[in-house]
Amino acid sequence: MKRRMFLKMAATLAGAFGVSGLPLPVQAALKRLDPSRIPQLIYLQGLSCTGCSISLLQSTSPSPLEMITDYSQLVFHTDLSATSGKQAMALIDDYIQGRAGDYFLALEGSIPAGMPEACVIGHRPIADIIAQAAQTMSGAVAVGTCACDGGIPAAEGNPTGAVGLAEFLSSKQVDKPLIQIPGCSVHPDWLWQTIVHLVRVGMPELKDGAPKLFFQRTVHEQCPRYHDFQQEIYAEKLGDKGCLFKLGCLGPVARGDCPTRWWNGGQTWCIDCNAPCIGCTSPSFARKKSQPFYRLSEINRQEVSR
Ligand code: SF4
Ligand code: SF4
Repeated sequence: MKRRMFLKMAATLAGAFGVSGLPLPVQAALKRLDPSRIPQLIYLQGLSCTGCSISLLQSTSPSPLEMITDYSQLVFHTDLSATSGKQAMALIDDYIQGRAGDYFLALEGSIPAGMPEACVIGHRPIADIIAQAAQTMSGAVAVGTCACDGGIPAAEGNPTGAVGLAEFLSSKQVDKPLIQIPGCSVHPDWLWQTIVHLVRVGMPELKDGAPKLFFQRTVHEQCPRYHDFQQEIYAEKLGDKGCLFKLGCLGPVARGDCPTRWWNGGQTWCIDCNAPCIGCTSPSFARKKSQPFYRLSEINRQEVSR
């Protein structure tokens, strides 16, 4: 099927299922995209749970369909591509060996630098594939906290020597443009809107490797319970009103615009659900046993020990 015909059919289906619905100004901006500048993307997964991919497919504006057909050319994605086996490996090789033109690498998951056999694609260690791609790619996007900083696979003990993409590239003395989009999982807007920015405007302004547009400030600074924090009004158990700091909230160390962007198409977000921020965008997310996701407040601890 020709691409134009596919897009027409996909647009009809998208309309029928209500998965389009871009705000008009965004639609207008995206329509001005120069098709020759739409980046080719190879999306690979290292040590990952696939949660970021699932999250990306929940995007509403732009819809996933629009993103992977109109605003990027998704050449390969481990879960979404119909191609598999030897054919998939030949396709990946065409790109990473530099035969198929300019492309960006998107990596979800960390790289087991200390145990390459812990993650293989087509019997080849992902570490070798990424090392080869590093020589030919135009740039890379690290999708999610595992790809940025190691994440859960790099938790204390780290038997596979899992590292994020930045550390891996630096160990190979590769200096290519890299955008880091942390989150466990990543918010679909954070990635898709970064790609649109790359295409429309160029490299976004970064802070510690992540787009400032989303990661300029901490969750704590923008939190609706910040005034409770200032007045030392603390929740003692889940469901209480007040700042969740005593229950382990890591909003002070996590950067992200969750308090203003919200999640699930603007339905809710962690603290709105009375759950502490678990610091999923922080480089130290899930890294230390001494920093668990939740804590018992002093009152709760006394009740538990009775
Ligand atoms: S609930 Fe968390 S993010 Fe909000 S003010 Fe308290 S410590 Fe900060
Ligand atoms: S509020 Fe915290 S845990 Fe929740 S998504 Fe944002 S950074 Fe992650």
